[in-house]
Amino acid sequence: MLNSTKARTGGKHRKQSPNTGRATLVALATGAVSTAGVSGAAAASIQADAEVQEPSVDFSLAAKSDVVEPGAAAPEVSPQILAIAEYKPVENLSSQLSKAVEHSEVVAAADALLRAPSSMKPAEGVFTSGFGPRWGAFHAGIDIANSIGTPILAVMDGKVIDSGPAQGYGQWVRLQHEDGTITVYGHVDTLDVAVGDQVKAGQKIAGMGNRGFSTGPHLHFEVHPGGNAPVDPVPWLAQHGITV
Ligand SMILES: [Zn+2]
Repeated sequence: MLNSTKARTGGKHRKQSPNTGRATLVALATGAVSTAGVSGAAAASIQADAEVQEPSVDFSLAAKSDVVEPGAAAPEVSPQILAIAEYKPVENLSSQLSKAVEHSEVVAAADALLRAPSSMKPAEGVFTSGFGPRWGAFHAGIDIANSIGTPILAVMDGKVIDSGPAQGYGQWVRLQHEDGTITVYGHVDTLDVAVGDQVKAGQKIAGMGNRGFSTGPHLHFEVHPGGNAPVDPVPWLAQHGITV
C-alpha cells in the first residue's frame, strides 16, 4: 500500500518537474516587481518575457498553484498588480492618513453625540399608579414597579440637587435640568450620585427600592416644571418622546 502510494506520488512529481523550474523563474521575476517598485514593473515584466521567451504559457503556469512551490509568489502574477501600477505615490501620505484618522474621530464623536438620548425613561417596570388623587391624598407623581436595585436613570441631562434621605420618600434623588425643571426619584435603595454632580440623560443615578412610604419596590417619579408645582409626568414624558 505505502509503496504503491509512493510510486504514484513520485510519478506525478516527475511528470510535473520540468515545468516547475520555469514557473519558479517567472515567480521570482514577478516577485521582484513587487519590491522593485511601480516604475520597475513594466521593465521587470519585459525582462521576464525575454528570459523565458514564452510569456503566455509561462504566466499561466505560474498562476497554477499546484506547480509552484509553497510560499512562491504566484498570487503576485494575478491582475491586481496592474492596478498597483496605476497608483501615484503621495509625498505626504503619513500626514494625510493622520488627518483622515483625526477627521473620522471627529465624525464619530459628533455621531455619538447625535445618537445620545436627550431624554430617557426613568426606569423599566410596571406602571402601577398615576398622577392625581389617591387614598384621600394627592399623588404628585407616577409609580413604576420593579425589583430592588433596578436602575433608576436620569430622564435628561441635569445637576444633582439632592441625593439622600427625605421624609416620606425614604431616600430620593432630585435633578435640576437646564430649563429649571426639577425631576424627583423617590424610595430609592441605593444612591449613585452626589449633590453637585452633573448627570447625562440615561445615566444611572440610583437603584430602585422600597424605602419610606412605600408598599413595594418601585420608583416614585415627579416632574416640577421650572421648579414649581408638580405636573402629571406622563404627558410631560410624552413631550420628550418617552412612553411609560
Ligand atoms: Zn408614588
